[in-house]
Amino acid sequence: MSTNNSGLEIVKIDVKDVRFPTSLGAHGSDALHVDPDYSCAYVTTTTKNGTQGFGLTFTCGRGTEIVVLTIRSMKKFIIGKNAGDIFSDFAGFWRTITNDSQMRWIGPEKGVAHLAAAAILNSLWDLWARLENKPLWKLLVDLEPEVLVSTIDFRYITDVVTKEEAIQMLKDKQIGKADRIKYLEEHGYPAYTTQVGWMGYSDELVHSLCEKYLKLGFKYFKVKVGVNFEDDYRRCSAVRECIGPNNFLMVDANQAWSVNEAIEWMKKLAPLKPMWIEEPTSPDDILGHAAISKALAPYEIGVATGEMCANRVMFKQFLQSGAMQYCQIDSARIGGINEIIAVYLMAEKLKVKVCPHAGGVGLCEMVQHLQFFDYVSVSGTMQDRLIEYVDQQHEHFVDPCVVVNARYMPQAHIGYSTQFLPGILDKFSYPHGSEWKKMIKDGLFPPPDEVELLNA
Ligand SMILES: [Mg+2]
Repeated sequence: MSTNNSGLEIVKIDVKDVRFPTSLGAHGSDALHVDPDYSCAYVTTTTKNGTQGFGLTFTCGRGTEIVVLTIRSMKKFIIGKNAGDIFSDFAGFWRTITNDSQMRWIGPEKGVAHLAAAAILNSLWDLWARLENKPLWKLLVDLEPEVLVSTIDFRYITDVVTKEEAIQMLKDKQIGKADRIKYLEEHGYPAYTTQVGWMGYSDELVHSLCEKYLKLGFKYFKVKVGVNFEDDYRRCSAVRECIGPNNFLMVDANQAWSVNEAIEWMKKLAPLKPMWIEEPTSPDDILGHAAISKALAPYEIGVATGEMCANRVMFKQFLQSGAMQYCQIDSARIGGINEIIAVYLMAEKLKVKVCPHAGGVGLCEMVQHLQFFDYVSVSGTMQDRLIEYVDQQHEHFVDPCVVVNARYMPQAHIGYSTQFLPGILDKFSYPHGSEWKKMIKDGLFPPPDEVELLNA
């Protein structure tokens, strides 16, 4: 790598519990997450020379404090290390942080432990991009294939893709790369909207939002389903009527159903021509998703999942077994970019389209970089691929994503777009930020319980 290592000793890892009161407007509500307060564990990594990297993992409110504690427990693996040395053997470092001989018992590579690792790893990738003075996606596409692949831990996935194959796949895509970068910078990357159909929105609001997003140029619209069939049919019919037969409808059950229930429910929604059913059942049920995919194939309904998929091993099995037709990687889950690249490579090898999950806090900001990288360096195409777009929480970031005419437009800002604006931490840190103090005092939210002790 070209980075000069001097001054890159990591001297500080700061972590904050940051929450936004989105439950007040039912924003983000679905069949199972009925009242999310979009939140994150937010990591700032500082080097001796003062360069900082910012990273986060997304959470839904309660429980963020547990991720924060886990990140604190992982500091010992990073403090005192030289960032340049980490990047030179990123896969080795990745294994250190995800497979510590004692901590791995509370994972391994799943749940809170993996969310915590993701936040730290994301801050390190942001730091790397800043040191190289590039947007994250540009860092990824500019790295030599051998160097990029050296960041991935291939343990457990070599039956689908080996290190050597991965390098060859990236080398093969060097052809036409400059043209794709040019096209991307000029035309951006297609997006779909989830904003029209949150579960808690009234029919009137759904209708007016469909009209708004049609005017903004969107062609793909996603609606939350899964609690009551009659309500789903009515809401999806209204959206279909508003967007017309030539635009696209997707539905998302957020894990609400058992396998047979999913199949029956979706057969009844089939006349409305949904393009995919997202998270029909447990995110862990690979064979269940395969059964649903098979049953719904005659109706031309694909299965989409991945936003709560635990790690590359589960992604591997989903991809191998025909259980997902749309692979929804999430930028704040699994083990950061190192592991997400492995999923992109497996999806390309097994010819499954990646349509990333986004929304939440900072997920649109981050995942655009990954999908740009996929277009330039891995799949080489945007065909039938989309990035989710939710128009919330962007105002808190220094470099918010920019979506114009329903396309994510690459920006010149350096890093992974995860830095909060000054003042956000003072206002929305939980529970001592000024906004939270006020909302708790006003009775909008109950006072924190154990959290108070944990943060003390
Ligand atoms: Mg979803």
